[in-house]
Amino acid sequence: MASVPWESSLQTKASELHGDTWQIIINGSIKPHSQAPGWHQYIFGSFARFKCSICKRTWPSKRVLVVFHFHLNTATKQGTIKVRRYKQECRKCNEPRMEDPNFSEDNINVLTERLVDRIRMRCYGENLGETNRPSVFRDRVNGPHESAHCEACKDGICNKAN
Ligand SMILES: [Zn+2]
Ligand SMILES: [Zn+2]
Repeated sequence: MASVPWESSLQTKASELHGDTWQIIINGSIKPHSQAPGWHQYIFGSFARFKCSICKRTWPSKRVLVVFHFHLNTATKQGTIKVRRYKQECRKCNEPRMEDPNFSEDNINVLTERLVDRIRMRCYGENLGETNRPSVFRDRVNGPHESAHCEACKDGICNKAN
């Protein structure tokens, strides 16, 4: 699974990570609130778009859950971040597939910025106080959230973001 936009966004903030090596890995099987011992968690809801791989229709969603689990190995100075982006399925198709969200570069940058803040606080003991990071850009989306077609809703964690 390509994690290139996340990886390159993370590397632009490498100077804030104390010279340690961090990598980000997309992992669709991590579970919220059950991170491994010594791992930290950050959950965020963001705007993204989806595309049905069957009928090709696209739709926006203002509530796409992103779960990060991160860990710093202080002996090797290597950090690992696992990211799970919750999927949604097409509501027009009879046998839809769960589709991966597409985040804009801006939203990926905002998400990694906030993630890096959490890493600095949790793994490096920095006290950042109140941060003035910009909030995630929320494009206008009309209509209700399609809970029946949202993977995070099915797992019962969708409304627990932020
Ligand atoms: Zn479809
Ligand atoms: Zn949902």
